[in-house]
Amino acid sequence: MQEQDQRAGEVVFGGIEGGGTKFVVMVGSGPDRIVDEAQFPTTTPQETLGRVVRFFQTPREGVRVAAVGVSSFGPIEPGRSSPEYGYITTTPKQGWAHTDVVGVLRRALGVPVGWDTDTNGAAFGERRWGAGKDIDPLFYITVGTGIGGGGLVDGRPLHGLLHPEIGHLPVPVYDGDTFPGVCPFHGRCLEGVASGPALRARVGRPAQDLDPNDPVWDLEARYLAAGFYSIVLTLSPRRIIVGGGVAGVPGLLDRVGRYMVSLNNGYVSRPALTDEGIGAYLVRPGLGSRSGVLGALELARMAYEETRE
Ligand code: ZN
Repeated sequence: MQEQDQRAGEVVFGGIEGGGTKFVVMVGSGPDRIVDEAQFPTTTPQETLGRVVRFFQTPREGVRVAAVGVSSFGPIEPGRSSPEYGYITTTPKQGWAHTDVVGVLRRALGVPVGWDTDTNGAAFGERRWGAGKDIDPLFYITVGTGIGGGGLVDGRPLHGLLHPEIGHLPVPVYDGDTFPGVCPFHGRCLEGVASGPALRARVGRPAQDLDPNDPVWDLEARYLAAGFYSIVLTLSPRRIIVGGGVAGVPGLLDRVGRYMVSLNNGYVSRPALTDEGIGAYLVRPGLGSRSGVLGALELARMAYEETRE
C-alpha cells in the first residue's frame, strides 16, 4: 500500500532543452509549476546525457515524472518510421553526430519521450504559454550562435523532407558586401552572414561587445529581414517570434521589421506588414530564454497523452 502511495502523486513532466553549449533540464508542468531545474555544459554525449538521466532519476517527493520531452539542437531525425528516429544526425558538433538521444532516455527512464528540434520545441512553448497563444500558423526563429526556425501548422510541427532549416536560406548581397560568410556548407547563407559567429568574424569582436548604434547592425537587420520575409512568403505564418541573444540587441528587431515592410512593398496586403502592424507581427518570446525547455515540457505532455489514447 505504501509503495503504491509513493508511486502515485502529482503527474509532472520532464523538459530537456539540448543546446550546443548547454543542456537545460526541468521538472514541472508549466511556467507556474516548476518543481526543479538545472543546467549542464554540453560535453560528450555519454557524460551529458548521463547527467540528464541522473537529474530525472532523482526522487522528488509527491511528484511523478510521467514523460520527458526533448527540444534538441540538430539536425535531428524527426521521422518516426526512420531507423534513426530520435537521433541527432549530421551535426558538426564534435562527438555528437549520430547520437541516439531518445533511445538512451527511454531505456534509462522507462517513460514516453517526446522529440523535436529546439526551435519547434520553442514554438510549442510559446504557443502554449507565451507570445504565440492561439496563433496558427506560428513560426519561431532564434538568432544567436546559430540561426534556426520551427513552425507549427494546425498545432503540429512542420516536418517534411527533414524539418525547416531557415538558417541556411540563401540571402542577397547587400551594399557590395564582400564578407565570405562562415557557414561550412554554404558560406553566405543567412546563418553564414548574420549569426553571432558571423558578426564576430565580420567585425573581429563578439556581437555583445558592439555598440547598438554600430553601422554593422543595419546590415545585420537587412539580412535578417531578407530571411524572415522569405518565411512570410513561403509559410504565411500569422506571427513570427524571434528569440536568441543577437536578436535581443536593443532596436534590432524594430529595424528588421522596417526592412521587411520595405521588402514587401505593399505586395502581401495585410496590416501585419505595415509600419503600424509589424511590431505586433514580429515579436520577442513571451517566455524569455525558457521557450525551449518549457516547450520540451509540452512535448512530454503530448507524448504522455499519446500513450493514453
Ligand atoms: Zn548554411
